Amino acid sequence: SIKAEVIGVGTELLLGQISNTNAQWLSSKLANEGISVYYHQVVGDNPERMYDALKLAKSRSDLVIITGGLGPTEDDITRNVLAEVAESSLELNEQALLAIKAYFTRSDREMSDNNIKQAELIKGAKVIPNEAGTAPGMIVNANATTFISLPGVPREMKSMFIERVIPYLRSAFSSNAVILSKMIRFIGIGESQLEEQVKSLIDAQTNPTIAPLATSGEVALRITAKASNRDEADRMIAKTEKEIEALVGDYIYGVNDQQLNQSVVDLLTDRKQTLAVAESLTGGRFSDEIVSVPGASQAFIGSVVSYSNEAKTKMLHIDSKKLEKEGAVSEYTALEMAKQVKEKLGATYGISFTGVAGPASIDQREIGTVYIAVYQSGDNYLVRSYQFPKDRDSIRDRATKKGLELLYY
Ligand code: ATP
Ligand code: MG
Repeated sequence: SIKAEVIGVGTELLLGQISNTNAQWLSSKLANEGISVYYHQVVGDNPERMYDALKLAKSRSDLVIITGGLGPTEDDITRNVLAEVAESSLELNEQALLAIKAYFTRSDREMSDNNIKQAELIKGAKVIPNEAGTAPGMIVNANATTFISLPGVPREMKSMFIERVIPYLRSAFSSNAVILSKMIRFIGIGESQLEEQVKSLIDAQTNPTIAPLATSGEVALRITAKASNRDEADRMIAKTEKEIEALVGDYIYGVNDQQLNQSVVDLLTDRKQTLAVAESLTGGRFSDEIVSVPGASQAFIGSVVSYSNEAKTKMLHIDSKKLEKEGAVSEYTALEMAKQVKEKLGATYGISFTGVAGPASIDQREIGTVYIAVYQSGDNYLVRSYQFPKDRDSIRDRATKKGLELLYY
């Protein structure tokens, strides 16, 4: 397979004024095309050092993508240096000049003489038009190495890469493999349990591979397939996904970037059900998770943050004597909160959160103790208690995730 290299041009990159997001973005796109990136370089707007950088790239890489230094100003020298490295020269490209003129007319701006320089392209280069800016890009073949020069402005660079460079790479380096991944997301199952259940599958697979991942109370499996084309990789992933579903399908809530809050809102909306929330320990964090989903209003009626006992009795009318006796962090209080908020707001479900996030314990309850109740009607409810690790932020985070998990179930 071919070896690729990405070069960022610009002194502001070296000064740390901007970060090299172009290289990151290009690397992930190249990986998607099955092209291995072996090197990144960053070089300032200096002719000697840029020459050395391009020479080095030419000596070791089959494909070199350069971003930046195509502007109209004095310090923009990529095209001159690249012409030297490719042992060619610059010539005015009439078509590129017309395109630049058209860009200025379109955007109602005055073209300066400097911009003519941007139409000076390397002899024999394939021109990559720039619909969103002035500097066209170039594909230059220098012996065994293909150089692709693109503007530094991320928006311009990205659309040129997607629309022009990818099709070029696919035809020029067509024998390359494509690497595709898909994330399968789980709830209600722990990392070790999940691994155990799919162990036979993981062990038997070499392509696609299956990798278990765990982050902040969530577990996932990543399927990665390598194939000669996209369709084949998609088919391989779909087959493996089916095999995973057969083993642990009950615990899957989404794929790729799908989040649990999104899945909960989708589920409630599909069933035409609604939600009311009473939060003590989470202080509104759970409601925020729900509301951050576009279209949450279909399912979310409202919430009460009843942090103190006073708020619990005054807003949710929880019996103060029983609250005193059972404690704010108790099965009784969790259930009452969920029930009251459900009934007051006329929702299908009420969900509540109460617990001890620290720094002090409450009513002799240990830090990390959390009760979550989901109330629907009569004896159609559940109350769960948890003991989370003793870090305030993660207790509230874990409680929020668990709440989503209970609703999804
Ligand atoms: P222009 O025609 O706008 O001058 P150019 O091809 O000369 O484009 P540069 O002048 O090097 O490109 O960069 C233009 C802008 O693009 C920079 O100010 C910076 O904000 C952004 N940029 C350049 N290189 C990178 C990079 N490697 N990663 C992210 N952003 C970049
Ligand atoms: Mg510039």
